[in-house]
Amino acid sequence: MIRQIFFPVLLLGVLSACSGARQERRAVAVTIPPVQAWAEELAGGRFDVVCAVPDGGNPESYDLPPSMMARLASCAAYFSCGYLGFERTWLEKSAQNNPQMEVVDLSDGVELMYGTHHHTHAEAEPESDAALPDPHLWCSPRRARLMLRNMYDALCRLDTAGRTLYTENYRRLDARMACLDSTLAARSAAYAGAAFAIYHPTLTYWAADYGLRQLALEPEGKSPSPQHLRQMVDSARRAGVKVVFIQREFDPKQAETFAREAGCRTEIINPLSPEWESEIMRIADALDRK
Ligand SMILES: [Zn+2]
Repeated sequence: MIRQIFFPVLLLGVLSACSGARQERRAVAVTIPPVQAWAEELAGGRFDVVCAVPDGGNPESYDLPPSMMARLASCAAYFSCGYLGFERTWLEKSAQNNPQMEVVDLSDGVELMYGTHHHTHAEAEPESDAALPDPHLWCSPRRARLMLRNMYDALCRLDTAGRTLYTENYRRLDARMACLDSTLAARSAAYAGAAFAIYHPTLTYWAADYGLRQLALEPEGKSPSPQHLRQMVDSARRAGVKVVFIQREFDPKQAETFAREAGCRTEIINPLSPEWESEIMRIADALDRK
């Protein structure tokens, strides 16, 4: 008799422990799909990862739908890239609404560059643009590794029980990033100092880390005027530019006109792709092509 009672009680205990574990599974938030992919790999299923700006959205001017606001409000932490327009307008509000959410700035300790990027979001212009850093840190594998390290440290702090898993996942992903970094460095050694053109200056850190020169067509975050485009064509010809990169979220027409006049190729790129590693290699291949 005792045994018959004991078994269902034990089973009940196991079931409630399982459902308790499900409830404890928490979520963290990120801004863009490449960082979501890193967070998912590091977290290994111990946290859900919510991405605020979907693939195809522009993280410099994105307006959050109310449904996403509610999801973000339930997150234990927000991993911010640091200086994207969306983060600067939204995170301050959210910190007031959800004070228990920890904001982790992934750009902490990463060397920043100033004066290369125009910030376009109308709500967030308290400082001059020259005083704000270029936000595209994740586009250089060298600086992306430091962002990953910050994310790993934060996950270990948020969930000490997961440290062994996070360490294993961190080492694997960081080794792949280190390999990308050395591949890009080795490849660009052959054309050090070469220039490429790009619509929006997304590859500022890439150019700086691998010894290239970036010519951005977009002046101060605005659509380039015909005169400006003319000057850029002259600079590109002088610099021997072979390729102009166009980000998927921008209208390609002006860059295509530029390419025809400067005599270079166009390449559509998506530095916001969730397939970050293959996108980095695709850009590297495009720079290699003559
Ligand atoms: Zn930008």
